[in-house]
Amino acid sequence: MDLVIARPEGLYCPAGDFYIDPWRPVERSVITHAHGDHARTGNQHYLSSSASAGILRARLGQDIQLQTLDYGQRLTHHGVTLSFHPAGHVLGSAQVRLEYGGEVWVASGDYKVEPDGTCTPFEPVRCHTFITESTFGLPIYRWQPQAQIFAEINQWWAANIAAGKASVLFCYSFGKAQRILHGIDETLGPILSHGAVEPLNRVYRDAGVYLPPTIYAGDVKKSDPIMRQALVIAPPSAGGSTWMRRFGEFSDAFASGWMRLRGTRRRRGVDRGFVLSDHADWPGLLWAINQAGAERVMVTHGSIGVLVRHLREQGLDAQGFTTEYGDDEDDNIATEPTVAETSP
Ligand SMILES: [Zn+2]
Ligand SMILES: [Zn+2]
Repeated sequence: MDLVIARPEGLYCPAGDFYIDPWRPVERSVITHAHGDHARTGNQHYLSSSASAGILRARLGQDIQLQTLDYGQRLTHHGVTLSFHPAGHVLGSAQVRLEYGGEVWVASGDYKVEPDGTCTPFEPVRCHTFITESTFGLPIYRWQPQAQIFAEINQWWAANIAAGKASVLFCYSFGKAQRILHGIDETLGPILSHGAVEPLNRVYRDAGVYLPPTIYAGDVKKSDPIMRQALVIAPPSAGGSTWMRRFGEFSDAFASGWMRLRGTRRRRGVDRGFVLSDHADWPGLLWAINQAGAERVMVTHGSIGVLVRHLREQGLDAQGFTTEYGDDEDDNIATEPTVAETSP
């Protein structure tokens, strides 16, 4: 018997009668993390990790019916024992471990295996069946150590200061923005953040994550000389908008795993691209799958066909799961989910 099946509303646990990250409103939802395509409005009950609570309430409303569990804490519902384990993707992100009749399944949500200091690092969880994402599930995706990427960002920022230009760095406002703030050299100059980023910074600080001081960009006047030295953190949707006019002369850049692809930076129309992802790369996905020790792997959103074929060649029982999760390395994904491909 399968502990998790795909239903039109989302990934469903029949024995426990609840959904994991449903994309349509349901009675009982278990949420892996607070990105908009995994945590949606309209569910009657939410269950999440304790570390996710602040972001979930900030995004879905203070009045949602939310129950939380600390990482590793167990809850039994209709005979299904459920617990959350760190996924290393964003603050509060969790893998969901389900145990029923001696069978263990893990639904990993989105995950990253390199620790980044802004959330609890990924912890492998042994299971019989592992449900994995495949956002960057192609062999071409191999990330450089993040220290190297941060060195490149610092160099770009310093060069712009020398040229008297603002540095505008576009990135997804929840997770990536805070990871960049945590990792950059704050001694170089002032840091401004967009109105979509600043409230999330507050939630991270409340959770005890160190972020350097940031100034809300809306509070700075157009003629203010700090613009010429500032690093500005903004969501991709701010690019090309009238909001950008206040910075005068600037250099812009985009931070995303997709910057690994030639042409993406040019299509974005930005000066620089930094390859920084909050998802596992190809070796990271294979490492996590191996650590889980599962004989069966269900592959969701991303390069399903390629990863399924590779795992089958390794002798694993692998298959694709069609979901409506989007792509949080891109912009506007919360409102425009895409259906993942199911065949090679
Ligand atoms: Zn995500
Ligand atoms: Zn996702």
